[in-house]
Amino acid sequence: MSALQLALFGSPVARSKSPRIHQAFAEQFGLDIDYRLIEASAEAFPGKLESFRSEGGVGCNITLPLKTLAFEQAAHPSQGATLAQAANTLWWDEKGDCHADNTDGPGLVADLEGSLGFDLAGFRILLLGAGGAAAGVLGALLARKPASVTIANRTLSRASELAQRHQSVGEVNAIAVTDLGDFPGADLVLDATSSGHQGTHPTIPYQALASAKLVYSLNYGAAAAPLGELARLADTQFHDGLGMLVEQAACSFEIWTGKKPATAPVLAQISMESV
Ligand code: NDP
Repeated sequence: MSALQLALFGSPVARSKSPRIHQAFAEQFGLDIDYRLIEASAEAFPGKLESFRSEGGVGCNITLPLKTLAFEQAAHPSQGATLAQAANTLWWDEKGDCHADNTDGPGLVADLEGSLGFDLAGFRILLLGAGGAAAGVLGALLARKPASVTIANRTLSRASELAQRHQSVGEVNAIAVTDLGDFPGADLVLDATSSGHQGTHPTIPYQALASAKLVYSLNYGAAAAPLGELARLADTQFHDGLGMLVEQAACSFEIWTGKKPATAPVLAQISMESV
């Protein structure tokens, strides 16, 4: 039997951990997979996606900067992808119709609740950032019935638009980063900004960090370090987004194969490789 054809589309993709994660999942079931990295600009993406599908592609992941385009490609987006207006997982049915989902949100929730043991129900959540990652996780966070989600972004209009789109799902509001000084505090501070890639952390008052039960960065590796250091100084528990990366991959893997992989050993393996 030929290998299951899977791929990651985006730019850049060369340093992605996804092939190793999916290979480790496949080994748990004795499955033969071929998970390729396909570098694609927005212009080239539709053509490359169609070539992948017509040559036997079963499903794929999508990363920056193609998640919105991927959502627009799908005839059948999930409710999560529709709320996010972005997809990180595509697959095709027997008629060749394209389906889309966004597993970033379920992946984050699985890490926070399943792996780290937090119950988000009743939590006050401060979500920093209003880009694709924040959009991808907000619906899944609200589905856990937190007391509130406050989105703070450098560009307030993006936070307001995101909050507006999710009004029907739960208690969500937007504030300007410059108003964070008056913020009463949160149980969970989530960093969904890309500031870590610039060697810095988002603006956040010390008090908001110090009073949180958990500070969680969706970033990992060096990009999570500036916020991790700040949380350490505030003596607040901190986790990076490596667990989320593995969990969102597991959700995609299950969509494509019908098999739910164990994530803990794969996270341990990836963490070792990242040191
Ligand atoms: P986007 O480019 O869509 O959005 C970036 C966000 O970060 C915006 O809200 C932007 O604010 C904000 N931002 C950028 N620089 C700064 C800064 N210096 N200070 C404050 N805010 C800043 O990126 P994504 O949302 O797609 O990704 C965000 C991060 O999440 C990335 O680092 C990515 O690696 C990570 N991620 C991790 C995943 C995982 O599985 N662990 C999954 C998906 C993403 P503004 O709107 O004002 O420009």
